[in-house]
Amino acid sequence: MHSPIQLPETWQTLLSQTIESPEALIRYLQLPETILQDAHRASAEFTMRIPRPWLDRIEKGNLDDPLLRQVLPLGEELNEVAGFTQDPLEELHSNPVDGLIHKYKGRVLIILTGACAINCRYCFRRHFPYAENRLGPAQWQNIIDYISADKSITEVIFSGGDPLVSSDARIKQLIADLEQIPHLTRLRIHSRLPVVLPQRVTASLTSILQQTRLNVVTVIHSNHPQELDDQVATAIHHLRQANVTVLNQAVLLRGVNDSSDILAALSEKLFNIGVLPYYLFTFDPVKGAAHFDVPDTEAKQLMRQLQDRLPGYLVPRLAREIPGRGAKTLLFIDQD
Ligand SMILES: *Cc1c(COP(=O)(O)O)cnc(C)c1O
Ligand code: SF4
Repeated sequence: MHSPIQLPETWQTLLSQTIESPEALIRYLQLPETILQDAHRASAEFTMRIPRPWLDRIEKGNLDDPLLRQVLPLGEELNEVAGFTQDPLEELHSNPVDGLIHKYKGRVLIILTGACAINCRYCFRRHFPYAENRLGPAQWQNIIDYISADKSITEVIFSGGDPLVSSDARIKQLIADLEQIPHLTRLRIHSRLPVVLPQRVTASLTSILQQTRLNVVTVIHSNHPQELDDQVATAIHHLRQANVTVLNQAVLLRGVNDSSDILAALSEKLFNIGVLPYYLFTFDPVKGAAHFDVPDTEAKQLMRQLQDRLPGYLVPRLAREIPGRGAKTLLFIDQD
């Protein structure tokens, strides 16, 4: 008797099979048809995109599921809200070379690709003109020249989009080029893939990261403990075995993680799988996402509650990006 052999699904296959039609989402998660019209209108502005491993962590039939809320296009996105703009971080002004943002001392951020495996409805890059920042060989050479010429730059940050959407071969080549620049010491990778598509953390990727002379930090992005299943834990374990430091950044989002119980559980779960909390960002005023906003006073209250119940190293830094500043702005919590 033969039983069919189940080949493990590669991350590329999973990436090519993301759910992008509201009808498919509704069917898969048994959601009410009433949300369909709004979902279509909102996804015409910013495509819905959900990888299956993420979908499988969502409770069927629950419109309030915290993972669903991060990806479901809602009618609210079409509201015009004063102060919520296309480019809240004014990043388009810190682009000395195509594909490179040099806003902070010592660190440059490189936009490897505009693509993501998931489209988060609150994303502050939802209006970023990625097409103008396509990273071809000529742009890459300009970036290498720019970094080589500035000895104050010690860290390169791969960002996007999601830089791990790039192939292992490409990442390997980019790292090989960067390694030639003697004043670089650190490589940071900002990626949501270890969470949303943990299959991306392949043996070949971890071996590239283990072999580079650069000190590698990966900053993952998880907002809710329900995102962190066994496959995510395995991916993080493999990164750590390759001597990669793993940190997490989260965004404080109304209806997703705006409670100290959830935030504390997130920190505990992260630490259990080998990740330290790094930043908790207050929401950027990006057009189309005002319904996720949590006011500062409430954010600070939540942080106080976290400080009361967690060891200091499990309390993320509450921060925001203010255009024109040379660092993230930390929001301090009043101590009485
Ligand atoms: C957030 C960010 C960084 C990294 O800031 P850290 O505080 O070092 O995490 C670097 N460059 C840009 C443009 C950024 O937005
Ligand atoms: S993964 Fe990151 S860059 Fe991509 S849509 Fe989500 S928040 Fe934005």
